[in-house]
Amino acid sequence: MATGPRTSDNFLNGEVSFWVHAEGRPTQRPGLPGSLDADVAIVGAGLTGLWTAYYLQEARPDLNIVIIEREFAGFGASGRNGGWMSAKSPGQFRRYARAGGRDAAVAMEREMIDAVREGVSVAQAEGFGEHVVQDGLIHVATNNAQWHRLQATIAALADHGWAPEDYEVLSPAALDARVRVADVRGAYWSPHCARINPAQFTFGLAAAVERRGVTIYEGTTATAILPHRVETNRGTVRAKYVVQAVEGYTLSLEGQSRRFLPMNSSMVVTEQLSDAQMADISWHGAELMGDVAHNFAYLQRTADNRIALGGRGVPYNYASSFDRSGRTADAAVEQLGNRLVELFPALAGVRLEHSWSGVLGVPRDWCAGVNYDAATGIADAGGMLGTG
Ligand SMILES: Cc1cc2nc3c(=O)[nH]c(=O)nc-3n(C[C@H](O)[C@H](O)[C@H](O)COP(=O)(O)OP(=O)(O)OC[C@H]3O[C@@H](n4cnc5c(N)ncnc54)[C@H](O)[C@@H]3O)c2cc1C
Repeated sequence: MATGPRTSDNFLNGEVSFWVHAEGRPTQRPGLPGSLDADVAIVGAGLTGLWTAYYLQEARPDLNIVIIEREFAGFGASGRNGGWMSAKSPGQFRRYARAGGRDAAVAMEREMIDAVREGVSVAQAEGFGEHVVQDGLIHVATNNAQWHRLQATIAALADHGWAPEDYEVLSPAALDARVRVADVRGAYWSPHCARINPAQFTFGLAAAVERRGVTIYEGTTATAILPHRVETNRGTVRAKYVVQAVEGYTLSLEGQSRRFLPMNSSMVVTEQLSDAQMADISWHGAELMGDVAHNFAYLQRTADNRIALGGRGVPYNYASSFDRSGRTADAAVEQLGNRLVELFPALAGVRLEHSWSGVLGVPRDWCAGVNYDAATGIADAGGMLGTG
């Protein structure tokens, strides 16, 4: 049993996330000035709402698009996550195949792969791609159960439409050449994942959307989403189309308290590693990394040489409650720290600098998707769409 790292003297818990704290909590944009009309009203300025605005505006520059955001763009999971801009579909392939047919599920896998490339190129074109690096994703198995699971995953990839160039199986020795993880049975690498700093990325996308003419009203709470209108604490937005993009916060909307389960995911980040620690773990690329435990851990080496590790922590709180600013239970911090040292025993002496949590919305059936109802003009884009 690993003994987890200690926390540093200026350890922070909550405060949205390490990423937001490091970038500096942004000044809120002005709120909705009162009732108004728009062509499209988007509720939620996370990556779902912002990407929707970005592409809608590109396709139809004539549209008047507004975004309603309770806090600030990036306050939710989009500014708190593990920074895996990944082609991994949320949920299971077989469920998508059951819902839409195998060909459609394969087509979605290809779209996810293209979306990562596109996300990287938009970030570069719009000037927020400086620290976005597509070095791929490594899944490691660190015990026999994980190794059986990983082999089954690898065996299924071809059936999911993955070509030989989409992944590479790594022996423990081959993995060691990229990153030195303890007790590895086997691993595979896929190029289809980019490392992002979630706050930098979401703030950058919000600024790009704004430059293109979309208005983001912050500090404005939507209370109800109704046919062709959004009720807020500062007035009503009447719009031909309404896009609901609040994922884990769906329960905050009138009549929607039981639609999505708000699931917590928690993270810790270390202090900057010393040269000796970097040499010990030998993780010099920007690959993202995860194990394949049921209660899986996801990791990134940050651009400034820290290790950020996330996992479920305390996945669900009684009555769907969660701490808005992301304060994380001590037991979860300890559990994540222990996992860090199990994976990298050389980091036993490292200190943790920050922990935080966020909520993501898990839809029935673990199948992400957008439901559009032409009669009401409401598109519901919540549900683990992820940063990709
Ligand atoms: C700790 C953690 C790690 C994760 N790691 C990854 C990862 O590495 N890769 C990945 O792909 N996915 C990851 N995810 C999931 C991913 O971050 C989310 O699926 C994604 O960010 C959801 O984006 P969103 O825009 O739909 O929701 P959010 O980012 O949650 O945005 C919703 C926005 O709506 C606003 N809002 C809420 N209620 C209201 C209201 N009533 N009125 C107005 N505004 C409102 C919120 O303030 C928020 O800004 C992680 C999630 C968490 C919590």
